[in-house]
Amino acid sequence: MQIIKSIESLRETLKPFQKEGKKVGLVPTMGALHDGHGALIKASVKDCDITVVSVFLNPIQFGRNEDLDKYPKRLEADANFAASLGADYVFAPSVAEMYPNGDPLTMVRDESLECLYCGAYRPGHFRGVLTVVSKLFLISKANHAYFGEKDYQQLFLIERMVKDLNFDIEIHRVPIVRESTGLAMSSRNEYLSVDERKQALAISRGLNEAKEAYLAGERGVSKLRDIVVKSIVLSRGQVQFVEIVNQNDLQKYSGVLKPTDKVVVLVAAFFGKTRLIDNIEFN
Ligand code: AMP
Repeated sequence: MQIIKSIESLRETLKPFQKEGKKVGLVPTMGALHDGHGALIKASVKDCDITVVSVFLNPIQFGRNEDLDKYPKRLEADANFAASLGADYVFAPSVAEMYPNGDPLTMVRDESLECLYCGAYRPGHFRGVLTVVSKLFLISKANHAYFGEKDYQQLFLIERMVKDLNFDIEIHRVPIVRESTGLAMSSRNEYLSVDERKQALAISRGLNEAKEAYLAGERGVSKLRDIVVKSIVLSRGQVQFVEIVNQNDLQKYSGVLKPTDKVVVLVAAFFGKTRLIDNIEFN
């Protein structure tokens, strides 16, 4: 395992493999790796000849009042973890390496979803994500890239960007990895107090209850939504949004669901000061 900090050195390192036609897999992360990231790394190691895990806390996807400064940082431990799963390189550039001219003048943004769901509460977030992911694709020239379904809207936007802009890379979806309690793994779970961590189980519990109700025949969008909202509120959480949307275009459903509807429930909620996201597909 080698930690690479410069763009040029990553390119030089990967070039011989790419000349030989080897498959390069990229796993973009912001670090503080856990088993959720681990699932992405394992998928890449299985599919690809070379796996590069990027660890870059991307400042341009954080709002001014967000948690950029307190976000956990532990590059050595991340590199050891990635190596233990078979990754070949950790690419950990500095902010100056990625943005030598300060905030980029040229950015990638979507035209419709950046202001919905997470985007509504995190202005500029998704264009920061799409821009850094584009840069990582162009820098690594990876053939495959791995993203978690935990960040459902992000994954959807990246898949669309790859199609819309003809990036020559295959995007792989990895299902959400949860703790045994049901809590979706996240680097931000470290902010939760012991009590908040217990209370936060209301998110996955509410999502599962809504799915059970759906499987038992409930088709009312507001009824299904209310199940999740109630679960969170009863557990002292503060709901930011719970939306029932179409898996294929992320447009909101309302009224009564049809049998052919492909449903995913997207949630963001605060427990204490910690914002958590989660989701569940019904079918
Ligand atoms: P992050 O470091 O939070 O930016 O996440 C990097 C990648 O790991 C993203 O594609 C996330 O969706 C994915 N990821 C984070 N947590 C999980 C999880 N619990 N299960 C699956 N993928 C995850």
